[in-house]
Amino acid sequence: MRHLAAILSLIGLAVLVNAAVVGDLRPPPHWDPWAPLDVSAPATPVTGWKLARLERSPTACRAALESSRLDWQAVDDRPSDVGCGLSDAVRLTGGSPRLGEPALASCPLAVALAMWAHHGITPAAAEHLGSPVARLEHWGTHVCRDIAGTNRRSEHATANAIDIAAFVLEDGRRVVVHRDWSGAGPEGRFLRAVRDAACEAFDVVLGPNYNAAHDDHLHLDMGRFSACR
Ligand SMILES: [Zn+2]
Repeated sequence: MRHLAAILSLIGLAVLVNAAVVGDLRPPPHWDPWAPLDVSAPATPVTGWKLARLERSPTACRAALESSRLDWQAVDDRPSDVGCGLSDAVRLTGGSPRLGEPALASCPLAVALAMWAHHGITPAAAEHLGSPVARLEHWGTHVCRDIAGTNRRSEHATANAIDIAAFVLEDGRRVVVHRDWSGAGPEGRFLRAVRDAACEAFDVVLGPNYNAAHDDHLHLDMGRFSACR
């Protein structure tokens, strides 16, 4: 409750500053919980709320995707009797972040990827590696399967998850989760920084610190749970 009060006071402050500076009584869009999410706008305490809303509003999600630097194509809905269908999905074909292989993604997953690239990967690469990231190597998004060891569908079953194994830099270097995660050098610091940043964009982030099944990739999803491990 104190957290909510603090956020509301900050929004109030943003309204006052905006009113004084530009004569507008609304908060600036990145402080306004009901304004469309702009991927490249500065993150504020209401950004997480805007992201969560995308999972309930395909229209808001498409608008957020339009604000990103991703290249994407809409994909027809695919009903499924076995829990592996697609709805409001897109095919990611290029742009930023560029994926090593084009991939299907639910709209919220695509927006979270764009948020992570802009607010997490780009600054972490500049700080730790001195070279921008050219592309993300991934092991797939849409796989009709259960969570290992359970009879519950994985978020991968609906293209609502992606497994990231490596980052290829513009200078040609590769930063590999399996090899570099625990390293004391810049590659390890970069990987741990982008894992932390992923937790701001995705609902679930599972990496090498979680269990042995994740010691070679970061699992990122926009599913029903919340985890940052
Ligand atoms: Zn996964």
